[in-house]
Amino acid sequence: MKFFKSSAIILFALTFFILSCSTVPITGRKQLNLVPHESMLSMSFEQYDQFLKKHKLSADKKQTQMVKRTGQRIQTAVEQYFTENRMSYTLRNYKWDFNLVENKEANAWCMPGGKVVIYTGILQYTKDETGLAVVMSHEIGHAIAGHGNERMSQFLALQMGGTALSTALASQPSETQKLWMTAFGVGAQLGFILPYSRIQEYEADHLGLIFMAKAGYDPESALDFWDRMSKKKEGNQPPVFLSTHPSDAMRIRKIKELIPEARKYYKKAR
Ligand SMILES: [Zn+2]
Repeated sequence: MKFFKSSAIILFALTFFILSCSTVPITGRKQLNLVPHESMLSMSFEQYDQFLKKHKLSADKKQTQMVKRTGQRIQTAVEQYFTENRMSYTLRNYKWDFNLVENKEANAWCMPGGKVVIYTGILQYTKDETGLAVVMSHEIGHAIAGHGNERMSQFLALQMGGTALSTALASQPSETQKLWMTAFGVGAQLGFILPYSRIQEYEADHLGLIFMAKAGYDPESALDFWDRMSKKKEGNQPPVFLSTHPSDAMRIRKIKELIPEARKYYKKAR
């Protein structure tokens, strides 16, 4: 009897694990995903709107145009990639948006469903459109790889005892919102920033390189950007983007390894 009971528990745990797992496109890594895609999107669209209401859009027309143009090129590349690989469902209900926000912080992020914000403060590091494409496609890589969902799942499991997102939102709205903002690297206002894990960083680099190359941006420029970032400091503090995105020799080496694969997409795009 005891045997059956423990087998039942194991079976339940296994089923739960399998049901809660998804696979990251391109890299094939299995990840924990407790929050349904639709819940992620609806919270994302709401948080994104609220963020835009509270922050000023850049008045610089030229730079804003560049952000939108770069975003749309990457969006088209991403859509093509997933159509060609018969995985369009990955992008279901996406509502892409690309905005440049007036903010001195060097930061950028992409919330689920393709909601991208670039802070004017990061433009001094991206320098030109290709540099911007490096950052944007990397952030879109995080979103498409479901890293925010993975981090929210970890938070919900560890800090809220495994509550569902909707329950957490209803019972602890401000706490849940803070978790959300942290999960997407929106700001340093919490006083602590949990960096994306190394695995997630390498994964976003991998996806990002393919997306930017497919959009017709030279993937080789990613090396220049990360190299520039690794040398910069804002006063005593490193830029926000750098504190969540450590740029070190290992990262640069991994990017170098991925460039030949990305270059194939770049050649076809030209
Ligand atoms: Zn990243």
